[in-house]
Amino acid sequence: MSFERIKEKLNILADAAKYDVSCSSSGSKRANLNKGLGDSSGMGICHSYTEDGRCVSLLKILLTNYCIFDCAYCVTRKSNDIQRAAFKIQEVVDLTINFYRRNYIEGLFLSSGIFKSPDYTMERLIAVAKKLRTEENFNGYIHLKSIPGASDELMREAGLYADRLSVNIEVPTISGLKLLAPDKKHEDFIRPMLKVKNEIIQYKEEKKIIKSTPKYAPAGQSTQMIIGATGESDKDIMYSATHYYKNYNMKRVYYSGYVPVAEDSRLPAIGTQVPMLRENRLYQTDWLLRFYGFEVQEILTNDQPNLDMDIDPKLGWALRNLQHFPIDINRAEMQMLARVPGLGMKSVHKIISSRRFRKLNWEHLKNIGVALNRAKYFIVCDSSHWEHHDMDADKIKGRILQNSYGKFRKEYSSELSLFN
Ligand code: SF4
Repeated sequence: MSFERIKEKLNILADAAKYDVSCSSSGSKRANLNKGLGDSSGMGICHSYTEDGRCVSLLKILLTNYCIFDCAYCVTRKSNDIQRAAFKIQEVVDLTINFYRRNYIEGLFLSSGIFKSPDYTMERLIAVAKKLRTEENFNGYIHLKSIPGASDELMREAGLYADRLSVNIEVPTISGLKLLAPDKKHEDFIRPMLKVKNEIIQYKEEKKIIKSTPKYAPAGQSTQMIIGATGESDKDIMYSATHYYKNYNMKRVYYSGYVPVAEDSRLPAIGTQVPMLRENRLYQTDWLLRFYGFEVQEILTNDQPNLDMDIDPKLGWALRNLQHFPIDINRAEMQMLARVPGLGMKSVHKIISSRRFRKLNWEHLKNIGVALNRAKYFIVCDSSHWEHHDMDADKIKGRILQNSYGKFRKEYSSELSLFN
């Protein structure tokens, strides 16, 4: 196989993989100075996080973009007239090792279109990981996609070689899935997820007794939902995400704004903007649910099923619940401090440890890193100065937006027009 053909395949299959955000992705600008194999610029290098939170760069590719399915939202669907390619197992192994030796990557993110059958595809993904681990002695990070509908035996084997497994549910609701991906069944996603969850628990238990028990998918499993392809509300999406976190021990749920790739009456038209701001608000909500003690129903309700695009969800909650404020920074419990807009968890911990030694005033809070431009409307501290007690929610929101709009407008001006 010629170098040019490998390069061509790499271009096609790295480009096709870019729609998958279930490993956090960003492009690499590392240049190839000696014209050797592995020019990583624009060729599918992304970043992800390992079991211990380390950021690693990954070669992110599909094994093939041939697919027997026809999911409307996917560029790889069988009815799409695109250039197709497929790597051989050994080619992916060689590419990974070559990129690794050149220090371009620390691991591999490998997904695939479904060719022949889910099991046939999954077997080949596993074969790549197995070769890397057992023949090349590769100890870098490996993230494998779990193919919907793959058998339990294959899912068990996959976790023995991969650090992370992920199966993308893509459409947040069953009705949306039926509409856009009629070849797929909901249970085709659920079964591999459940298998991975149970295997992780079982291997961890066994390891407590038998120290030599191998690790199984030590970085856990993740999934991805496409946002804005169908009519789900933010409430639907966040309830769905919570379900996957709770019932399948997801490490992460990723939200990927739909990129229009096809003219299809079921989907937003080509040229519709990717909902980046909405995606960002969903990530903020996800964070509040996982680390700040919020419940979905506090942020999204039947009366308010979508997030406010103007302000972040924590500020939105505080403005709807002004009866809880102001809180005294020097006395409030951690759960309440975490709910103050402008206070991240780092600041919360610093406040709790600092206030043991002194009463905190505005200056102390500023030094701790509190975003006072937002927090000052919701707190009191060791100072008689608190001038905002007579403001209602609209006034506070107006003031905060006034102070932050310059930056906000610049980043999102085109998108804001969609929501005005
Ligand atoms: S099965 Fe996967 S690769 Fe194939 S069309 Fe559906 S989403 Fe795309």
